Amino acid sequence: MDDVQQRARRTAATANPGARATASTGQAGGTMPGTTTGTTGGTPPVQSGAATRAGSRGNNLDDVRRNNLSAVLGLVHTTGPVSRAQLTASTGLNRSTVGALVGELVSLGLVTEREPDTTKQVGRPSLVIAPGQRTVALAVNPELDAVTIGLVGLGGQVLKRIRYDTLHVPTAPEVVNIVSAVVAGMRDELESNYATVGVGLAVPGLVRAGDGLVKLAPHLGWQNEPLAEMLQDALRLPVFAANDAAVGALAESLFGAGRGVSDLIYLNGGASGIGGGVVSRGALLTGESGYAGELGHTLVNSVGVPCHCGSTGCLETEVRRAPLLEALGLPASRAEELEAVLISRFSGRGGDADADARVDADAAAGPAEAATAAETTASSTASAPHTTDPALQSIVDAQIDFLAIAVRNAVNLCNPELLVLGGFLGSLSAVASDRLERAVARTAAPGGWPVTRISRSSLGVDRLMIGAAELAFAPVLSDPAGTMAALAV
Ligand SMILES: [Zn+2]
Repeated sequence: MDDVQQRARRTAATANPGARATASTGQAGGTMPGTTTGTTGGTPPVQSGAATRAGSRGNNLDDVRRNNLSAVLGLVHTTGPVSRAQLTASTGLNRSTVGALVGELVSLGLVTEREPDTTKQVGRPSLVIAPGQRTVALAVNPELDAVTIGLVGLGGQVLKRIRYDTLHVPTAPEVVNIVSAVVAGMRDELESNYATVGVGLAVPGLVRAGDGLVKLAPHLGWQNEPLAEMLQDALRLPVFAANDAAVGALAESLFGAGRGVSDLIYLNGGASGIGGGVVSRGALLTGESGYAGELGHTLVNSVGVPCHCGSTGCLETEVRRAPLLEALGLPASRAEELEAVLISRFSGRGGDADADARVDADAAAGPAEAATAAETTASSTASAPHTTDPALQSIVDAQIDFLAIAVRNAVNLCNPELLVLGGFLGSLSAVASDRLERAVARTAAPGGWPVTRISRSSLGVDRLMIGAAELAFAPVLSDPAGTMAALAV
């Protein structure tokens, strides 16, 4: 199975994990994609002839057309520019059907079609299909000290990212006001250049499946905040919400380190704790209420410190960014320098000196680029790096050992192909991957661990914007014609 075919399968399997705010605008055709996880994320293409003959219940020509449009658009969305010939091979549809489907997607503004660069080809060239440039989603990520708003194009391309710094931890109504003001400032651009299909919210907290209610966001001090509904009323656009780490897992699995991987675990370390997301057989694991993947609150230290969740010794109480910053002499305001400074304090990276140089060079270019380029597989080191600062070494060792316990449990539970580390957890693994791998290998059940690779998050600061936008794109990807008609954009 080639990469494109693999993506066709994964596209078909990926369900919309976002929870839509209770519909009040009616712009998405009255469907509630967020509540139908596992059924609307695109279905495998169906040959119209076969479907007509079968004549089975609910499988009429409209269903066939919708499913096939969904399959083709999903493939173009996750793969990027792809030839008609590849689409034909990957979907199993015949050439004329693919041509008609692409034509409809072009007329909806969802894809573009162009002549290929023929200089390197032999024989008749196949037209190249690419994600449309007009279709966009807004992405919103409220955090402790800022609200970040992104404009993301179909195909996962971040067109714009605006970070609005706040003087204090924002309340939910303040987030709505900030987003409204930023979107108002972009309105001319949005109306003249783009068709906005919706808004995706990445929330650092528990987000209820079904209506997007923020059940609890402890670091923001929020409880039972209907943020998605409030934002939907303010913007008059469909709004979908999910946990930030879950959204990050989705982004990494579709466009980042987990491209082509159907089973992965994503762990992200941020200022406010550790979040996790699990993608299993291509779909985000949501659980009954949408709260699955809370790996930051798995027990790693039975004599650990109390956690805000009511337990003690959780992963996020034992593995924290603050002690690392302190040991490096960095104030929180310079947290973006953590990785570069941490790496500079460690030496003896053995066979991965080139990767070090790349990280350093990119760190100088900016934290976003550094995070993106620091995609070094943790298994590539030949000798363990170390530091001459014993206090720093002991903090790193202790954090890695606690992280290894959580990784071991997650690996035993989910048998992933890939473990993706983001945020400061990725920085930790950059200097202590050997220790992490040894600790997990020593303790994990023999079946799961040998197949799991560890890698760094590869989408950098764009990760949450891309993942949040994916929530808003889901209805379009599931029913391209129906959703665009309902949106009338
Ligand atoms: Zn906890």
